[in-house]
Amino acid sequence: MECINCNSDCCNFISISFPKTDREIELDAIKWFVAHKGVSVRAMEALNIWILDIEVPCKHLSDDKKCLIYSVRPDICKNFDSETCLVNQKQPTPAILFSSIADVENYLKGMNDDKNDKK
Ligand code: SF4
Ligand code: SF4
Repeated sequence: MECINCNSDCCNFISISFPKTDREIELDAIKWFVAHKGVSVRAMEALNIWILDIEVPCKHLSDDKKCLIYSVRPDICKNFDSETCLVNQKQPTPAILFSSIADVENYLKGMNDDKNDKK
């Protein structure tokens, strides 16, 4: 599949995975992350990981959406696959998506309610 009708989306964000956490200190850090514009955290339940997504353009992307360092681009860029990318394949809705401090607070409330129910 070709890269058409796309704004080079795969060159406009970075993602960092980390283990799923229920630790309040780490959830507080996630509140701080998602307080920033263009930052969200989503769950990938099958792998028991969470993914921090940051919308930020690559500094090597030209105004006409070309890679200016194509021959030496990182392997992860070489592995972008137009068959499975965010644009060309519908991604499953994440079970958890934190886009705001309120989202994290709701998650914490649910977590604490669960703990109280088990007492
Ligand atoms: S791989 Fe997908 S997101 Fe990246 S440029 Fe091609 S169509 Fe766009
Ligand atoms: S290095 Fe090139 S291919 Fe990789 S994200 Fe930047 S512009 Fe896109």
